[in-house]
Amino acid sequence: MKADDPVTVLRGVGPAAARSLARLGIVSVGDLLLHLPMRYEDRTRYVPLNEVEVGQACLVAGKLVRSDMAYGRRRSLTATISDGSGFLTMRLFHFSRQQAEALRRGEWLRCFGEMRAGPAGREMVHPEYRVLSARPEAPEPALTPVYPATQGFASTRIRACVDQVLDAGVTLNGSVLPEEPVPALDDAVVFLHRPPADASPEALDASRVRVAKDELLAHHLLMRERQKLRARQRTTPLPKAQGLGRELVRNLGFRLTGAQRRVVSEVLNDLDSPTPMIRLLQGDVGSGKTVVAAFAAIRAAEHGCQTAIMAPTEILAEQHYETLSGWLSPLGIEVGLITGRLAARERHARLSAVARGETLVAAGTHALFQSSVEFASLALVIVDEQHRFGVHQRMMLRHKGHLPHQLVMTATPIPRTLTMALYADMDVSVIDELPPGRPPVQTSSVSSSRRPEVTARVVSACRAGRQAYWICTLIEASDALESQAAENVAAELRTEAPGLRVGLVHGRLSAAERAQAMEGFKNGAIDVLVATTVVEVGVDVPNASLMVIENPERLGLAQLHQLRGRIGRGKRRSYCILLFDPPLSDVARARLGIMRETRDGFVIAEKDLELRGPGDVLGTRQTGMQTFQVADLARDAPLIPAVVEMGARIADPVRRKVIATWSPFFDDSYTEV
Ligand code: ADP
Ligand code: MG
Repeated sequence: MKADDPVTVLRGVGPAAARSLARLGIVSVGDLLLHLPMRYEDRTRYVPLNEVEVGQACLVAGKLVRSDMAYGRRRSLTATISDGSGFLTMRLFHFSRQQAEALRRGEWLRCFGEMRAGPAGREMVHPEYRVLSARPEAPEPALTPVYPATQGFASTRIRACVDQVLDAGVTLNGSVLPEEPVPALDDAVVFLHRPPADASPEALDASRVRVAKDELLAHHLLMRERQKLRARQRTTPLPKAQGLGRELVRNLGFRLTGAQRRVVSEVLNDLDSPTPMIRLLQGDVGSGKTVVAAFAAIRAAEHGCQTAIMAPTEILAEQHYETLSGWLSPLGIEVGLITGRLAARERHARLSAVARGETLVAAGTHALFQSSVEFASLALVIVDEQHRFGVHQRMMLRHKGHLPHQLVMTATPIPRTLTMALYADMDVSVIDELPPGRPPVQTSSVSSSRRPEVTARVVSACRAGRQAYWICTLIEASDALESQAAENVAAELRTEAPGLRVGLVHGRLSAAERAQAMEGFKNGAIDVLVATTVVEVGVDVPNASLMVIENPERLGLAQLHQLRGRIGRGKRRSYCILLFDPPLSDVARARLGIMRETRDGFVIAEKDLELRGPGDVLGTRQTGMQTFQVADLARDAPLIPAVVEMGARIADPVRRKVIATWSPFFDDSYTEV
C-alpha cells in the first residue's frame, strides 16, 4: 500500500464507501493520513462515579440499581447505576420499548458521555451506552480520535480505515525540517492519529502545528518556484504607444485618486516588460478597480492586442461591458460582451468578431473560456472578483493566448502576512484610498425586537426616492431556506407598504428573473431589493443608500464588509442596519462592533483574523484560495512569518522534498505554472 493508492485498496472500502469518503475530500490513502482527528475522547479508564465532575466527558460503568419512566414536562427513561463509590443516572428522551425493557436491575451498564447536573442529581443524557450481563471489558488503551465524518461514513469507520493505513506502515515520506524541536512530519501524523493515553493537549497541538507548518511551507515554496519559472517566461511586451490613456483621463469626468494613479503605473510598467504580468490588484469595494482595468486594456488595444475581462456573474459582466464601452468606444476600441445568455446566432456573430480580432476587449462570464471562444491576439486577461473563480479557470483562459499578461482583481482585503505566503507567486498592488466625496456608511446594530421600526425606516426612505437593499441570510446557508426567507420579507414589505416596488433576487429564481430584478433596481424601477447573499459582489447602484442585513451575527466580517460595500457609493449619506437576533455570542458582538467602528477593509480583515470565528475570516471558501488539508488560515496565520523565513533559508534537497511530499495534495492548477 502506498500513499497515492486510491482508498479502495483498503479492506471494506468499495465504490459506495469511496464516494462517501470523497465527500470529505478523501480520495487517496495519503488523504486519509492527513484527515486528522478534530478532537479526542478519553476512554482509557473507568472514572469512579464519585469522582466524575459536571461537564466532564468520561467513561463510567456500574450495576443497574433501578430503572424508571419519568413523566415530567417530557417523558423520559432513567436508569441509575452504582459502582460502590457513588451513583449516576442515565436519562433518555427518545427510546424504544426494547431499550426500556433491556434496562433491567442487576445488569451492568457502560456509558460514555458528559456529566450534567440534572433535576434529580448528576446524570448523563443520551450517552453512548451498552447493557452487559457481566462486568464490562477493559477500557481502551489509548485516546479515541474523533474524525470529521459524513453521512454514511461515521468517525469509527474512518478510524478503522486509518488503522489499516498505519498498520501497513504507509507514511507521507515527509522531510525533517531544520532546527525542529518537534518530531518529523510522519511521526507527528502518527501521534495525532494514535496518541498515547497520557498525551497532553499541548503535545497534540504541537503536533498539529507541526503538520500545518509543513503544509504552509510546501505551499509557500511552490509559489516561489512558480514565480521563478515565470520570471524566465517571455511574452509580447506592450510598451507605451499612442497615448489613448491620456484621452481617457480627459474624458473620465473624475480625477483618479493617488492610489489609482500609482496602481495604473505599476500595471502599465509590467505590461511594458517581456515577462508575463501576474498581478493581484486588491482594492476595497468602491475603490475604483474597473478604471485600472480600462487603462490596461487600452494599452493592449494600442498594440492591436485583445483583452478578456472576466466577471463571476452575468450582471457584473454586463456592468463591465457598459462601463468599458462607455470609456473605450470613444477611443475607437470595440468592446464586446460574451455571456451564456446569448442566443445562438448572436453568440456566433460576437464570437467571430472576437476571432477576427475586431472586438479588442471581450467582457464576459466563464462563457469566455469555453473552447468555442477563440481570440485572434489575446494579450491580457483580467479576472474580476477572483475569489469566485477557481485558479484552474483562470489558467484555462491563459491557454487561449500566448502567455497573456494577467491582472487579478479582488475586493477581499487580504492581510499582508497572508499575501506574503499565499500569493508569493504574484505581484501585489493595493488601492488603499476611496474616491473623494463619499461620506462613510453609518452602521448601527438593532435587535430583531425592533424589526417593525426598521421596516418603517426602509419604507420611508423609499418614499423619499431612495433605494434600499434588504439582505436575508441564514445560518444553514441552504439555498431553499434562504430563498424562502427572502420571499417572506418581500411579502411582508408589500403588505406593509402597498405601492412600494419590491424586487427579489435569490438562488431559487432563474438567472433571467434575477437579472431582471437587478436591472430594475439599477434603473430605479425597483425601490427595495430583497436579496440573499447572491448580491454580494461588485454591483454598482449609487442611489442605494440603505441596507438592512438580517442575522449579521451569522456572517464573517469579510462577508459583512462586502455586503455593506454595495451602499455608500453615491454622494448621499448611507446607512447600514445590522438586524441581529439576540442573544449575541461574544465573538458576534465583537464583530458587529468592528463593523460599526470602521470601514477600512484591511483593518476588518486583520480583526477578522484575530477573532478567528469558526469558519469565517478569509476561509478558503470565501477567497477561493488553495484549500489546505490541515492548515487553517484563521488559526494558523501566526505561523506564516516563521514559515516564510524558513522558506528563505531551507536547503535545496529539503525544499524539493517538502514540495514533493505535499504536491499530490494541492489542487492541480497550483502545480501548473
Ligand atoms: P470597485 O473597485 O468596487 O470595482 P468600481 O470600479 O465599480 O469599484 O468603482 C466604483 C464607482 O466609483 C464607479 O461608479 C466609478 O466610476 C467610480 N470611480 C472610480 N474612480 C473614481 C474616482 N477617482 N473619483 C470618483 N469616482 C470614481
Ligand atoms: Mg468591481
